Amino acid sequence: MTRIRHKLSKHIYALSLSAAIILTVGIFCSIFLFGKYGIIDKLKAENDTEQNNPTISVSKNSSLEEQLQEYTSILESPYMINVTKSNPIPQNYSVSLTQIYGIQLQPQAAAALREFIEAAEAEGISVTVFDGYRTQENQSLIYQDEIDKTKASGYTDQEDILKRVDESVEEPGYSEHQTGLAVDMSQDASTNAAEVYNSEFYKFALEHCADYGFIMPYTEESKIATGYKAKPWHFRYVGVQAAQYIMQRDLTLTEYISYLRSQIEHIEEELAAAEA
Ligand SMILES: [Zn+2]
Repeated sequence: MTRIRHKLSKHIYALSLSAAIILTVGIFCSIFLFGKYGIIDKLKAENDTEQNNPTISVSKNSSLEEQLQEYTSILESPYMINVTKSNPIPQNYSVSLTQIYGIQLQPQAAAALREFIEAAEAEGISVTVFDGYRTQENQSLIYQDEIDKTKASGYTDQEDILKRVDESVEEPGYSEHQTGLAVDMSQDASTNAAEVYNSEFYKFALEHCADYGFIMPYTEESKIATGYKAKPWHFRYVGVQAAQYIMQRDLTLTEYISYLRSQIEHIEEELAAAEA
């Protein structure tokens, strides 16, 4: 009898021990699986990160959108107006002007010019500004004057005369000076290219004009692209960002504008592909 009871209590003991073990293991398993740092949460977290990839591409898209905005705002800036032999000033082009150094320029270009010239003067370099904004009438007079001078120097063939004139003077309606964003200046008001190249001001300008938003559109290198002889006294205001890009890479304004357009197109394609 005692032996049976003893056997029974041993049995109960074994049973409760097993139950306790199962319970403990069960609790640990649950913690391991479902707890705060449990494997299920971990897996979920990993899964979330994978699903978070859209977040990564969202931030990639937003930086693309910022770039798009930047390129677009440069391209649409009023200082990017491009006047070439094949691109006249728009008929309705209106311009606000301010007086500076005895010429007229658009206010922002005038302020930039003052800073530029003051920086040169601070280095002991002198500069003479001799032309700025021109009306259609001004430009017509300059053009006619160049025709007369060319005739006076012995040219008789009309076609030949115009070809020579068109290499140095813009036809009325086709001059950057009519935008109020172009300025002619050199150390001693010289318009002799060789002389200008040798001047301190030219060397200073080559290095620093872009920091003030100016470019030199008519160089020895851009002759074929622009159709004009080099005019190292002619500066054009385009804004600092554009000027720095253009001067660092020896681009024409036309080339820079097509670069901006292709960048915009490229980003728009990328954004459309990301949305699809
Ligand atoms: Zn000029």
